[in-house]
Amino acid sequence: MKVEGRGVLEGKRVVVATGSRPAVPNIKGLGEVVYYTNEKLFDLGEPSSVAFVGGGAVAVELAQALNRLGVKTAIVARGRLLKYEEEMASQFMEEVLKEEGVEVVRDEAVAVRRADGGVEVETRGGRRIRAEALFVAAGRVPNSEAAGGLLELNSDGSIRVNKRLETSMPGVYAAGDVAGGVWLRGGRYAENAAARQGTIAAVNALGGHEEYNPAAVPRVVFTDPPVASVGISEDEMIASGIGCRCAAVPIDVVAAAWASKRTSGFIKINTYPETWWVSMKGGKIAGAVVAAPHAEELIHVFAIAVKLGLRIGDLAELVPAFPSFGEALRAAALAFEKDVSKLSCCAG
Ligand SMILES: Cc1cc2nc3c(=O)[nH]c(=O)nc-3n(C[C@H](O)[C@H](O)[C@H](O)COP(=O)(O)OP(=O)(O)OC[C@H]3O[C@@H](n4cnc5c(N)ncnc54)[C@H](O)[C@@H]3O)c2cc1C
Repeated sequence: MKVEGRGVLEGKRVVVATGSRPAVPNIKGLGEVVYYTNEKLFDLGEPSSVAFVGGGAVAVELAQALNRLGVKTAIVARGRLLKYEEEMASQFMEEVLKEEGVEVVRDEAVAVRRADGGVEVETRGGRRIRAEALFVAAGRVPNSEAAGGLLELNSDGSIRVNKRLETSMPGVYAAGDVAGGVWLRGGRYAENAAARQGTIAAVNALGGHEEYNPAAVPRVVFTDPPVASVGISEDEMIASGIGCRCAAVPIDVVAAAWASKRTSGFIKINTYPETWWVSMKGGKIAGAVVAAPHAEELIHVFAIAVKLGLRIGDLAELVPAFPSFGEALRAAALAFEKDVSKLSCCAG
């Protein structure tokens, strides 16, 4: 391995963990204006307005935060927000942001130019959005150039690895964003996945036999309320022919939501349809989405459910604390069989 200023370092095994960087989209005029990315966030100063190009986790989290700090914010996204989350979560987050005053423009940014001491973003549909500062959060690019063209890559430019995090070259491993993130194929990047992959790559480099399994790795968007998911999405289940038997409950079915005046959100559970007929305990849990207060904590119950192959009946047997948002986990399980809005507190 060639290292700047250090010559060549030799090792029997190598782990590539060079991460990713912000993608710079091909937008006319972008090279002629000042724009920010997450790498320059703290150079942003105190603008009165910010336009975000991109609708992923980084844009959504920062737009909400800045808006709450009194900055007028707009998001220009060519598809739905949070496209790696389920449609229901995307719609929910768009409503939350709009209610708070964030402008959400669902259109492709095709040109940017200087205007009024700030910038103007033009969309394919002819919308013009003006802001003092421009923030580009249009995805990530894996830093796979460090591999010097010697390793096989995935279509998104990440280094192709197997479950043991081995690359196409014996003795060379890759982990984290550069190895395709959570699913090892790009799209969703997360610290927890990168850290686990790093451990597995290191253990295997030293002769171990560990495998990475993304099935039970939670992904969280840290908005308020947060959006957390784990396992397989309804779309993936349908696209792969498995089908999905799903149920969702609004978070306001539980008293804790009313008591805390945080009634906005939902929990959705996806199950494998064919598993309903083989057990009295109902279907096997394939995945879940929690868009609600404490979602980043609640999602771990579903991570365990997916990892251990738990069924809806296992969740329905919970005796959750009252009042707590955890009650909604059980309510979501009961929603497969009942109208939970008609249940009184703690009943079932
Ligand atoms: C704004 C933002 C917010 C995020 N928030 C969350 C969150 O809340 N939760 C979460 O789970 N994830 C979050 N993520 C994702 C998370 O940060 C990444 O998935 C994680 O850091 C990836 O770890 P990594 O070790 O693969 O890469 P990195 O943490 O990017 O580390 C790569 C390192 O390699 C170095 N490097 C690169 N090229 C070379 C080279 N040629 N030679 C030597 N060194 C090199 C880099 O300088 C860097 O130090 C966020 C990402 C962004 C951009």
